[in-house]
Amino acid sequence: MNHGAPAGGPATGGEEVLALREEIARLHAEAGRNVELFRRTLARELAVLEAQSLPELLQAIVGGLRESHGLEAVTLIVQDPQHEIRHLLLGDGHSPEGFPGVIFTDSVLALAPQMHSLARPWLGPYVSPDHQLLFPGAKGLASVAILPLKRGDRLVGALNFGSADPARFSRHFASDFLGHLGTIVGFAFDSACNRARLVRAGLTDSLTGWHNKRYLHARLREEIARAQRHGAPLALLMIDLDRFKEVNDSCGHLGGDAAIREVAMRIESQVRGSDAAARFGGDEFAVMLPASGLADASQVATRIMRAVSASPVDVGAGVGRRITVSIGIAVLEPGAAGSDLKAGAERLLADADAALYRAKAAGRNQFACAG
Ligand code: GH3
Ligand code: MG
Repeated sequence: MNHGAPAGGPATGGEEVLALREEIARLHAEAGRNVELFRRTLARELAVLEAQSLPELLQAIVGGLRESHGLEAVTLIVQDPQHEIRHLLLGDGHSPEGFPGVIFTDSVLALAPQMHSLARPWLGPYVSPDHQLLFPGAKGLASVAILPLKRGDRLVGALNFGSADPARFSRHFASDFLGHLGTIVGFAFDSACNRARLVRAGLTDSLTGWHNKRYLHARLREEIARAQRHGAPLALLMIDLDRFKEVNDSCGHLGGDAAIREVAMRIESQVRGSDAAARFGGDEFAVMLPASGLADASQVATRIMRAVSASPVDVGAGVGRRITVSIGIAVLEPGAAGSDLKAGAERLLADADAALYRAKAAGRNQFACAG
């Protein structure tokens, strides 16, 4: 059937009907796509809200959205000028590089200056100069959706979708629910960061940045279980500053604090990444040495004593003071711990503490071994 009108002539009734039909079919298809996208977006929002931790959330946002929405690229830009969020991830045992698609930056605007005036999601064609920094390494993108993430009025990140289909994200597309998704992701991200901060604060000593006693207790139980599985020994060093009250008395509390921080750094310089160190409280530190027996632990103790006393410690106003430490060593031999990990950890701590007491009683600036 020919509905066509002569070229340039007025449209016939039949032609108008056909054009209308085509328009209705196009709107219908678009509405169908929107409903489908809406459904998937809702499902993703739930997954984002259910994420239990920052790493889980990042995975739900980037990997989850790419799969569920069948997109070529999804990236999350996170503004992290103090590197705090990266430290939260590292503290949780995750490398910030381990989340493909998550880009940490000092400033979102440095990556995409056009975000400056963006209040709502922007949908449209992929334009390389404007968008390439938002999708590093992505190839063949034709349309993009860029969702600004805000905290109050402040831009704190962006969630970006890239598709090879030029019609996938267009200005005609309903973007309300993408705006909704951006809001949900922004809130979920904020609250996951706050949760991670709280956990970290509960396990971290604010003076030295080291782990605290609570962390050591938990980690000790894990390490005992691991040592048992591998049939390896586990050594624990309790380190206490000698006559530290005198430092406080002569140099003041702040001078004492400076000394504690400096001694912590000198101890740290002597322990490996696999060792766990904690400020146990006051002027006392603990270092756990996995897969180490008495000989290894004695060597580490000697190195720590030398590093601490090698040169005067700055206690403020350019005043240096020589500081020494005493160390108690206890070793858990393979097979010696029972099934009660908590009791095993407490015994190891008590043994190291008793050895420390003997090192003090014997004149300080030395180590003693339990048993
Ligand atoms: P010893 O050789 O027997 O260990 O003698 P000591 O003087 O070091 O005695 P002890 O370890 O019992 O005392 C530790 C002192 O550390 C007591 C406390 O006033 C001080 N202290 C505890 N926490 C802090 C802190 O965060 N900052 C400062 N400046 N001092 C602290
Ligand atoms: Mg002391």
